[in-house]
Amino acid sequence: MRRYQTEGSRRLHQQTVPYLLDGVGSSFHVSSYRDYPVAMTHGKGSKLYDVDGNEYIDYVLGFGPMLLGYCPPAVDRAVAEQLRRGSHFSAPTEDLKRLSQRLVEIIPSAELVAYQNSGTEVVMYALRLARAYTGKYKIVKFEGQYHGWSDEEKVSIDASCVEELGDRENPRKILHTKGQRLSSAEDLIVLPWNDLPALERTLAARGGEIAAVLMEPCMCDSGPILPKPGYLEGVREVTRKYGVLLIFDEVITGFRLALGGAQAYYGVTPDLSTFAKAIASGYPFGAVVGRREVMACGVPASGTFNGNPIGVAAALATIETLSQPGVYAHLEGLAQQLETGFRALARKYHRPLYLRHVGSIFILYFGFAEDVEDFRDWLTQADLASYTRFVAGCEEYGVRFTDRRGREYLSVAHTQEDIRRTLAVADQVLGEMER
Ligand code: PLP
Repeated sequence: MRRYQTEGSRRLHQQTVPYLLDGVGSSFHVSSYRDYPVAMTHGKGSKLYDVDGNEYIDYVLGFGPMLLGYCPPAVDRAVAEQLRRGSHFSAPTEDLKRLSQRLVEIIPSAELVAYQNSGTEVVMYALRLARAYTGKYKIVKFEGQYHGWSDEEKVSIDASCVEELGDRENPRKILHTKGQRLSSAEDLIVLPWNDLPALERTLAARGGEIAAVLMEPCMCDSGPILPKPGYLEGVREVTRKYGVLLIFDEVITGFRLALGGAQAYYGVTPDLSTFAKAIASGYPFGAVVGRREVMACGVPASGTFNGNPIGVAAALATIETLSQPGVYAHLEGLAQQLETGFRALARKYHRPLYLRHVGSIFILYFGFAEDVEDFRDWLTQADLASYTRFVAGCEEYGVRFTDRRGREYLSVAHTQEDIRRTLAVADQVLGEMER
């Protein structure tokens, strides 16, 4: 197996750093295992190609959006067609109506929709809606869950060790960057996820001041954790009981777990939910959907680019492609093939690997094999050093996994042959890690 040379990426990084902050477009692009990120020239299907001409089977998929793979023909056609008519109007279009109608058809909680341009924005808008509708200001969020980079969203998303987090039911609220105001977290109540009694105790005591419970229905971002059986149903019940709105952040799970998102997959309908990433196959686009009376409570969905025609065209073509028969069965088949193959490798190398999949999200981690319940559990057991070594090794042989998080994305464009090649690379790297 040939080890890739990435000299061109290193050179490009050196040339970029004098002009661009950290030499990257987003801080997420900084590599955690080499001093420069691999730079790409193009992508096609399940593959990315770097500036040195190396080919990668990609499971990062632009941090999730490329659910149809790179250059999906239907989306490219729809966007090219829209480009001929103009890229931005600041006015409604026929397609805007069609997309809104389609989202209401396919997403269980959607009675009305509104648009923004990113995951960060849709969550910000959903929180404002919840506060406006209820007249209350506190928001329950969960330890380890990431909802975007705004001051209020980037709180208690990560930690270096459990001790840093403080008391489990009354944790320290951790701000994550310089420049975040101390008051960012004032209206947040941080709780452990997957713990229904803890949530119910909080709602019983403070429901009168809590506008909403915000959660990823399947915790994907910082260390993937599955909901315990009955947990989401329980959350739905207690939020109703105490007059608190339930917001599902489906920025990752949307369209990936099912066409109707995690809410369709798990059969639990929130009051509001947020979608971005995979909704528009790589174009900056997001939607908030929810109950009519909450959505229409009088909060303007402002924004120059909201409902931008290019994003709308991409979203319509994406949803149309995902609506074809067999698409989700294909994704499920690939995820199963990957999981089965990795289980065999875990046995071969006597390694505890955590291997699960939900829809087109494949979860791979080192250090434990059984389900963990919450972020503290994950933080205690996760073997980040081994995961990082593994991911770094795979990249050198042409397989790109996510940098630190252990959630890998599959696309409709991936093939069984991709999975076979991926498993062969994983075999090689796990073998090297033994030495
Ligand atoms: N919500 C979740 C669950 C996310 O994973 C992310 C981004 O990774 C966001 C919100 C923020 O989305 P964006 O990066 O598009 O602003």
